Amino acid sequence: MDKYSDKVRKLLQGKDRMLIGGEWVQAGSGQRFWTDDPATEEKICEVPLAQETDVESAVEAAKGAFAGWRRLDPFERAQKVSALANALRQHAEDFALLDAIDSGNPVTAMKGDVVMAAAIMDYFAGLAGELKGSILPGKPGMLHTVLQEPYGVVVRIIPFNHPIFFAACKIAAPLVAGNTVILKPAEQTPLSALEMGKYVQDIFPPGVVNIVTGDGPITGTALVKHPKTKRIALTGGVDTGRAVLKLAAEGGIKQVTLELGGKNPMIVFPDVEMDKAVESAVVGMNFHWCQGQSCGSTSRLFLHKKIHDEFLDRLIQRTGRIRIGLPLDPQTEMGCLASKEQYDKSFRYIELGKKEGAVLVAGGSRPKGEPFAKGYFVAPTIFDRVEMSMRIAREEIFGPVLSVLTWENNEEVIKQANGVDYGLTASIWTRDLSLAYRTAEQLEAGYIWINGSSRHFLGVPFGGYKQSGIGREESVEELLSYVQTKSVNTAL
Ligand code: NAD
Repeated sequence: MDKYSDKVRKLLQGKDRMLIGGEWVQAGSGQRFWTDDPATEEKICEVPLAQETDVESAVEAAKGAFAGWRRLDPFERAQKVSALANALRQHAEDFALLDAIDSGNPVTAMKGDVVMAAAIMDYFAGLAGELKGSILPGKPGMLHTVLQEPYGVVVRIIPFNHPIFFAACKIAAPLVAGNTVILKPAEQTPLSALEMGKYVQDIFPPGVVNIVTGDGPITGTALVKHPKTKRIALTGGVDTGRAVLKLAAEGGIKQVTLELGGKNPMIVFPDVEMDKAVESAVVGMNFHWCQGQSCGSTSRLFLHKKIHDEFLDRLIQRTGRIRIGLPLDPQTEMGCLASKEQYDKSFRYIELGKKEGAVLVAGGSRPKGEPFAKGYFVAPTIFDRVEMSMRIAREEIFGPVLSVLTWENNEEVIKQANGVDYGLTASIWTRDLSLAYRTAEQLEAGYIWINGSSRHFLGVPFGGYKQSGIGREESVEELLSYVQTKSVNTAL
């Protein structure tokens, strides 16, 4: 801890407690776990490892707060969500510093995450008026009303790649809808969620938002299985998604939505504006921002044979200009991976790619130089001559490893793009919009960009086909997924 600035050291104080029922508490068992700095491989501080009894307390607190919270006018709830968004903006630097040391993401990018999260929270606050139910026509003397009512205790489980972003924006919709929430940040990156707890404590009545730290097998499992948690939302990996579906069923019949992984195609036709498309391939891979650790990364790049060589050349040059650096350096564009597991996984796939016969044309190693003597740094890596039979073309690596495939036939490339179990995003590049749209119609993916990549647009539903998930977020669909309808049929 000593190596950090006074400011960071101050932010780290009190992180051995979590927020349950409006109080800062340790785990009842006293158990804790270390969160590490992936850029130095050193320990940062300990946070509570919540056990079943702590989960029980959080559920009771959330349940206890539910009656009062749901009775508030939706606009009053929305005001509190917006107040939290404002607190985030005011303290953006603090959150960004914590995320940079905890996740390895660049501090500048993490400031951007705070701003984006706050915008999404305001968006959901602005949707409070959509909780309006409906009146349906019936024969004279009959009145059919459909009410929208919250579920009760919502569990929100989030991953490590955008810590404060997910912690903040994923609680907005359930809260506006009138639910109380238990948020569980990822075990790799709990710090910024705990920091957010300070403002939560000031703004919300006790128990409306609880922040419980811990791992998947103990804490996450207990939350999902608990018979009184009525609505589960996970952002995480496919295997975790499957486990969560089973665990939820063990605890009762629950509404579950899942935002899971991707192995997303970017298809480049020969008529593109090459510089723009090259830039989009880099941005789409999320080499900067989170080192390729993004569900939406366009990690399979399908280049038409006619442009393959020139495109790849420019892409290698552009990738070589990415400023890799320490996460706390404001000039850094690309930091390090979030954990040793992610680092080892990337290198396992790099070795596998070579063994499978793909041609390594960039990266494939740690970046050179003094700042990278330690830490989970991986240079942006590109494999050429990848075939769909290879595992690097089919499996989510969740690291800075891009697979380039060459194609000639339109139907064949669509078949290949669809030839994986995932279906989250896709990007299509051509000046022929009719061709682009027809291609989009045939792709099995929930979110498609034509002449773009990576960017999310507020209000436009985001979510996956196939194994990439169930449900849609970032839109009115997300808000309405946190209410159940009650139809009241009245004979007048
Ligand atoms: P992960 O699935 O390992 O963990 C995600 C969260 O689930 C963590 O908080 C973890 O503690 C918890 N968890 C793990 N096992 C659990 C269990 N049995 N019961 C309850 N909770 C459990 O994922 P990760 O490694 O943190 O993140 C990477 C994955 O997340 C990638 O597959 C990525 O594509 C996906 N992701 C998806 C989206 C999206 O919007 N679709 C966004 C970001 C990340």
